[in-house]
Amino acid sequence: MSDHHPRRSYQDLLQHYTSCALCPRQCHANRLAGETGYCGQSMRLRAARAALHMWEEPCISGAAGSGTVFFSGCNLRCIYCQNHDIALGQTGKEISVGRLAEIFLKLQQKGAANINLVTPTHYLPTIAYALEQARLGGLSLPVVYNCGGYESVDALRMLEGLVDIYLPDLKYVSEELSARYSHAEDYFPKARLALAEMFRQVGKLMFYEPAAPSRPSGRAPAAVYPPDTPLLRRGMIVRHLVLPGHVGDSKKVLHYLRDTFGNHIYVSVMCQYTPLHLVADIPELSRRVTPAEYQRVVDYCLRLGMENVYIQEGDVAQESYIPPFDLSGL
Ligand code: SF4
Repeated sequence: MSDHHPRRSYQDLLQHYTSCALCPRQCHANRLAGETGYCGQSMRLRAARAALHMWEEPCISGAAGSGTVFFSGCNLRCIYCQNHDIALGQTGKEISVGRLAEIFLKLQQKGAANINLVTPTHYLPTIAYALEQARLGGLSLPVVYNCGGYESVDALRMLEGLVDIYLPDLKYVSEELSARYSHAEDYFPKARLALAEMFRQVGKLMFYEPAAPSRPSGRAPAAVYPPDTPLLRRGMIVRHLVLPGHVGDSKKVLHYLRDTFGNHIYVSVMCQYTPLHLVADIPELSRRVTPAEYQRVVDYCLRLGMENVYIQEGDVAQESYIPPFDLSGL
C-alpha cells in the first residue's frame, strides 16, 4: 500500500548479518558465515508455513484471511511460548529471497487481506528486500509486521515505506518478569522505543471503510470482535497476552499504552494463554488465566477510557488455535 519503495542492493542488506545487531540482543554473530546468535538462525531464510490465516484480529483477518508467513526462530523464545516448535527453529524449510517474494504474490492471488509477517525480526533485511521485489512484481496489499516487540529502532528504519501495519506485542513492564520469562531484562525500555518508531512510521489508524470502528457504550467495549469491523489499511495494533497471576503488570502495560498513544492505536488484550508441557514445573504458569483475572484487566481498560480495544470471549485458550507448522505454501 505504501508508495515509497526505495531500491536497496541485496549485497548491502546482507552486510547486516555479518555482525548481527538486528535486535537488542546484539549478539554480533556472523550469520552470513553460518554462525547463529540467540535467535538460533543463520542468515538462511527459513519459514514453517505460508497460508491464509483467520485467527488474527478481525480488522486484520477480514473475511478471506490474512496472508501469513510464519518464520522459523525467534529472538525472544519466551518460556511459555505457544508456538515453541517454530520459535526454537525446530520446524522450517529454507527458502530463497526470490521465493519469498513469489509467496507474497501467491498469497495476494489467493485473496489475502494483507501480507502478515510473523516473527520476522531476525530476517528483517532479507524480508525488506523480498517486499521491494514483490512490490515491483505487483504486490499492492498492506504489509503487517507481527513481532514480539523486542526490536531495534535502527533495524526498523529499514522497513520505512514497506510496512503499513505494525502488530507488536507489549508483553511486560516489569524487568523481573521479562528477565524470568523472556530472558530479556531490558524488554520494556527497548520495546517502548521500538513502538515509538513503529508509530512514527505508520501514524494513526486508517481503515478501508467506514472511517472508524464503532465505539464502546456503557460498560461493555463495543470493539469485542465486531463482525462488521472494517479492514485496517494502516496503523498499529499492540497485543498484550494476560499471564496467570500477573494482572498488576498487565495494568501497567495498558496504562503505558493509553498514556503514550491515546486512542490512536488498537490494543488487543488476549486471554488465550495455554500452559504447555514446557512450563509444567513452573507453578505460576501451569494454569490458564481465570475469567475473573481477565475481567479485571478488561475493566481497567474501560476505566482508562480506552476506546479501541479488542477483547476475547469464550474458551479461546485451546491448543487448536496454534496453526499446523506443516511447511504448507512454501
Ligand atoms: S537477530 Fe538473532 S543473532 Fe541478531 S542480534 Fe537478534 S538474537 Fe542475535
